[in-house]
Amino acid sequence: MPIKTPSDTSSVTADAAATLAAHPRYTSDADARAAAATDRSGYIPPTLPDGVVLAQSADDVVEALRLAHAHGVPVVPRGAGTGLAAGASAHAGQVVVDVSGMNRILAIDPVEMTAVVEPGVLNAEVNAAAAEHGLFYAPDPASTAICSIGGNIATNAGGMWCAKYGVTRESVLGLRVVLADGRILRTGRTTIKGVTGYDLNALFIGSEGTLGIVVEATLRLRPRPVRTETLAAYFPDIEAAGRAASAITAARIQPSILELMDGPTLEAVDQAEGSRHRELGGAFLLAQTDGYGAHLELDEIEGAINPYATSTHRAGSTEEAEALVKARRDAIPALEKLGRVSIGDIAVPRNRLAEAFAGLADTAARTGVRIFSVAHAADGNLHPMIVVNPHESITDGPAKSALRDMFRLAQRLGGTLTGEHGVGLLKREWVGEELGETSRSLQHAIKAALDPSGILNPGKAI
Ligand SMILES: Cc1cc2nc3c(=O)[nH]c(=O)nc-3n(C[C@H](O)[C@H](O)[C@H](O)COP(=O)(O)OP(=O)(O)OC[C@H]3O[C@@H](n4cnc5c(N)ncnc54)[C@H](O)[C@@H]3O)c2cc1C
Repeated sequence: MPIKTPSDTSSVTADAAATLAAHPRYTSDADARAAAATDRSGYIPPTLPDGVVLAQSADDVVEALRLAHAHGVPVVPRGAGTGLAAGASAHAGQVVVDVSGMNRILAIDPVEMTAVVEPGVLNAEVNAAAAEHGLFYAPDPASTAICSIGGNIATNAGGMWCAKYGVTRESVLGLRVVLADGRILRTGRTTIKGVTGYDLNALFIGSEGTLGIVVEATLRLRPRPVRTETLAAYFPDIEAAGRAASAITAARIQPSILELMDGPTLEAVDQAEGSRHRELGGAFLLAQTDGYGAHLELDEIEGAINPYATSTHRAGSTEEAEALVKARRDAIPALEKLGRVSIGDIAVPRNRLAEAFAGLADTAARTGVRIFSVAHAADGNLHPMIVVNPHESITDGPAKSALRDMFRLAQRLGGTLTGEHGVGLLKREWVGEELGETSRSLQHAIKAALDPSGILNPGKAI
């Protein structure tokens, strides 16, 4: 099915534009509106948003939401726009509040091991600043160099190190959030421990911009590992690699990274990067361990996967280890060179990875779409990537049908619709089936309590 491009001014809502035009940071410039219309999901909205507030401070966000609340204007919060679920997409009648300009690291406390940051700071920038104190920030999406901390919090982002250190939720201690009516709320705390009151922090983490706009975060940092060891293993096919990953979990070994790539993805990475992984096997597993006993733990991993692997190779230097990690980080950009990419994000129990890969092969055969797979194997989180021709839609036809199949597959295996990218716009129609009536109506009641006129990112997440 052919895709449409957003039409520019045809359906601009005069009311929304006029209301927010009073804001000193508001622009209705066509380029700014086009830049703020969508994310990296491949989704193209039918029209452009009416305008963009380019916030530089918490006061700018407060003022934008006060105006929007008073006049019932729908607002779409936006970080760096790297989301993969169309959560930050916006159309006519909506105004985007872009916080990427709020990008200061306000403090790092090397004793408490915390950082206080504005939401637009990039994930990799936090890590670079933490490294100066011998510390690191654990949630590391493959998009670390281009995604913002605010977006990470709003999607509860994951990454490679989450195998050992947990997702964003485990590394956020406190937040400052602007509510729909412009009030400022503090959640959580700035200390490592604390349990006073309900855990509102957890409520906002992963809420995809539907409950408030994060304007400041206190993050938990960790000591940089004294030692890391890295192993690349190759397998005849992705199902064998899935069985090997399950064997590692079953042996109760704790890798800090455990990433899988299938043969077609290896081919795409080789093509983009000039590497030669595909020659070595039909699937690739990257394992990393860290800490004083890293080498001993890696021995255990090698032992667990040997019955399945055709070859294993330990990185002999930091540079070699970094090149292997980079190959995995480059998977999505490599596939984006082949066409329009729609990225699935299902999570299944970790002992059912091989079954999940077999199910994806069935989906590809049934729908006729090309599916490339990578996975955060230690978390049971698969990213099956549907690649269609650049002129084809990802929201209709075979691509949509394949996405639906993936959700059903996850359900059958006892898994979930989204492991880390969020529901956004693209997966919302299946949320009710997973949550069930009681949970979904409670979630709508929470949304109504915090945002009674429903102006924050309407039509997303729940
Ligand atoms: C190459 C590539 C690799 C990726 N790898 C991973 C990966 O390994 N793991 C992973 O989890 N994701 C990954 N992603 C997806 C994406 O980077 C993450 O979802 C990231 O957290 C989005 O951050 P962002 O700043 O770009 O947010 P945006 O895309 O701007 O927004 C995402 C959502 O958060 C909301 N939001 C943004 N900022 C705020 C705020 N301050 N307050 C409230 N709501 C806000 C938006 O409304 C939207 O719903 C990848 C993306 C790409 C392009």
